[in-house]
Amino acid sequence: MTLTPVLSRYWDHPRSWTLETYRDHGGYDGLAAALARTPDEVIGLVKDAGLRGRGGAGFPTGVKWSFIPQDGPTPADQSVPHYLVVNADESEPGTCKDMPLLMATPHALVEGMIIAAYAIRCARAFVYLRGEVVPVLRRLQTAVAEAYDAGYLGTDVLGSGFDLELVVHAGAGAYICGEETALLDSLEGRRGQPRLRPPFPAVAGLYAGPTVVNNVESIASVPSILANGVDWFRSMGSEKSPGFTLYSLSGHVERPGQYEAPLGITLRELLTYAGGVRAGHELKFWTPGGSSTPIFTAEHLDVPLDYEGVAAAGSMLGTKALQIFDETTCVVRAVRRWSEFYAHESCGKCTPCREGTYWLVQILARMEEGTASEDDLQKLLDVADSILGKSFCALGDGASSPIVSSVRFFREEYLEHVRGGGCPFDPHASTLMA
Ligand code: NAD
Ligand code: SF4
Repeated sequence: MTLTPVLSRYWDHPRSWTLETYRDHGGYDGLAAALARTPDEVIGLVKDAGLRGRGGAGFPTGVKWSFIPQDGPTPADQSVPHYLVVNADESEPGTCKDMPLLMATPHALVEGMIIAAYAIRCARAFVYLRGEVVPVLRRLQTAVAEAYDAGYLGTDVLGSGFDLELVVHAGAGAYICGEETALLDSLEGRRGQPRLRPPFPAVAGLYAGPTVVNNVESIASVPSILANGVDWFRSMGSEKSPGFTLYSLSGHVERPGQYEAPLGITLRELLTYAGGVRAGHELKFWTPGGSSTPIFTAEHLDVPLDYEGVAAAGSMLGTKALQIFDETTCVVRAVRRWSEFYAHESCGKCTPCREGTYWLVQILARMEEGTASEDDLQKLLDVADSILGKSFCALGDGASSPIVSSVRFFREEYLEHVRGGGCPFDPHASTLMA
């Protein structure tokens, strides 16, 4: 498969982020095409295109929009206000696609949000952005100001009679606030902790109103569908996972970065574009969708990287964050690093995750430091099992999945740690784990 740059096609332009450059490359044509249709027609088009959520779960975007109840054709007709919230709290380890997208072409998100808001008939839209990324915040705020000045936002968008206010909100850097309901709590001004679902946000979300929560890349993909049509979008990818997407390659790879390609491309193919695993080394393990997904090994190089292909091979496409590790990396050490992250970011609401992630870190630390006993490996799996599927939100599953899968593929390496008195790897050999 060849690369298909759509979102990233002029990221190397020296002023790619300005409204002028965006318009020079067909920007806001998708909005014009949307406003020429009814909101229902726009939802139908996104449904037909088969766009699936790019934040990790792959839920069909048009279907999610269609859940929003409608009392009439405009936001003013709705008995309860509707909201659009874009989740820009990207923070899954290895996941680094939304921030470059926002730095390079923030107007792709702004245009997509106007189209989505028009489709679900909401008059208020929010971007919840990771607070630490101040340059991204500034760039997005500039783009929003440009869009207001150009009449794309505010009252009577492009003379259509549709009004939209767009607010950019910076979070305070908690991983759990990327979970959609914790994000909504945080946006409402409370401590961010997941809410019970159902009700899903589409039924009762921000301020208890029907709310669509979508990822940055999902929304930024919408204008191109409106401008180029369903057939064009479906000409890429597979039947159930159509279109293009951003794959983020990081770690032991010659040319790490964003590679935009049709869904269904394989890591083997992506590595040919990225210059392969670093010279003189070989692939040991990798993540198909960030650190919350079960890991893969070299035997999975030809797995089609779409939702079905990765699931059939035992993992999840997730955020398409492909972290590559070569043979110099200790798998126990890598998993311990991830576990420390999850233990630190656990919000503490439910016992399996709050207590379990702490114990995972303790056991992994013992293994690395050479104080683990023979039964610690089984204890590790038992604790992971007590978290998996028994936690309140997906963070717990995410913390356990890489552990269980790494033991499946590298049991001997774990046992070597236990029996050999600690980590057998040179801590300085792996450029990633030193
Ligand atoms: P989910 O499958 O529970 O939900 C996905 C989306 O579909 C949500 O917006 C949800 O509201 C909606 N939905 C699902 N069923 C619905 C229904 N019956 N009615 C209405 N709406 C419905 O997944 P999730 O827990 O929201 O997200 C988990 C994913 O997040 C993981 O796959 C992981 O890859 C990803 N993730 C991403 C990041 C990041 O930085 N982007 C960080 C952590 C995790
Ligand atoms: Fe909080 Fe973890 Fe429970 Fe999620 S799984 S609610 S992050 S304690």
